[in-house]
Amino acid sequence: SLTLGIVGLPNVGKSTLFNALTRNDVLAANYPFATIEPNVGVVPLPDARLGQLAKVFGSEREVPAVVSFVDIAGIVKGASEGAGLGNKFLANIREANAICQVIRVFDDPDVVHVDGRVDPSSDIETINTELILADLQTLEKAIPRLEKEARTQKERRPVLEAAKQAKDILDSGRTMFAAQKEVDLEDLRELSLLTTKPFLYVFNADESVLTNEARLKELRELVAPADAVFLDAKVESELLELDEESAAELLESIGQHEPGLYSLARAGFHTLGLQTYLTAGPKESRAWTIPQGATAPQAAGVIHTDFERGFIKAEVVSFADLIEAGSMATAKSAGKVRIEGKDYVMVDGDVVEFRFNV
Ligand code: GDP
Repeated sequence: SLTLGIVGLPNVGKSTLFNALTRNDVLAANYPFATIEPNVGVVPLPDARLGQLAKVFGSEREVPAVVSFVDIAGIVKGASEGAGLGNKFLANIREANAICQVIRVFDDPDVVHVDGRVDPSSDIETINTELILADLQTLEKAIPRLEKEARTQKERRPVLEAAKQAKDILDSGRTMFAAQKEVDLEDLRELSLLTTKPFLYVFNADESVLTNEARLKELRELVAPADAVFLDAKVESELLELDEESAAELLESIGQHEPGLYSLARAGFHTLGLQTYLTAGPKESRAWTIPQGATAPQAAGVIHTDFERGFIKAEVVSFADLIEAGSMATAKSAGKVRIEGKDYVMVDGDVVEFRFNV
């Protein structure tokens, strides 16, 4: 499954956040056989639709989609120079599908900031610089090889051109993700550049920031078009110890309506380019994860590979139509249940039953 790699400077709250991510009962209940690696935090994607579906179908349980975060330990400054931990740091980032940077915006005289002060844009630049330098090294090796290939193989020319363009962009201090409109990232795919990965920013904040709309707007603009999530990592870990009522009170005291982990899960899911569709029955109501743009057979394949191979058709009703009808039978007689074929592109929140040959 796709993962987000958590990175950040020392002392920004990565471990605190990661501990909160790894302690949730929902998963133990619904995925009893999943092996969960020590450096992987798997968070359920909050989905209020599941509860409503479970009511309509009388489902015994609800199974949410999940989002996986990998804790990427290791030094940051000098990582691109390739010594020891630095190499491992970059290799771990290469394996992740998106980068989730934790940035400190909380003030606490007792917690030392590595650069001596809270400065989000400088923190972002520090990480970007290491990734950009690593990508430049990759390109310095690749470009001479691509030049040679392009001399005899015409189809290699677009790759060479894209690599040269990428070098200019990185030389100017920008990431490929930030410049994605200027180059065809598809041409660069074989080079696995780190900065082409989608970025997500988590601002580890305290109440004074979380309740300051102007400051939040400023931080959001700093990282746009990447997603920004604001939370208090310390509070997130405390929430897990509390009953529902006390948790709600604590959240309200810092001006929040829901745990930050919920917004983090949603933003992570979005950054990875994923969406869900739903299945429901007496046993369970469940959200399944597919890439945005997936077709009906690809969606069926997520349940079982045989379902994709033997796909015949999908019976699809939108979540809203189903809930309005109140039952599958009513939705059917109202003509709200569509029969879709193998070219159908799934829409988030489709409630689906697949027909297939085995
Ligand atoms: P890491 O080095 O990025 O993994 O950072 P840690 O999670 O170990 O946090 C470093 C220190 O900052 C610890 O003493 C945490 O208790 C503290 N800390 C983490 N998050 C917060 C926060 O949101 N507010 C405050 N005041 N302290 C925090």
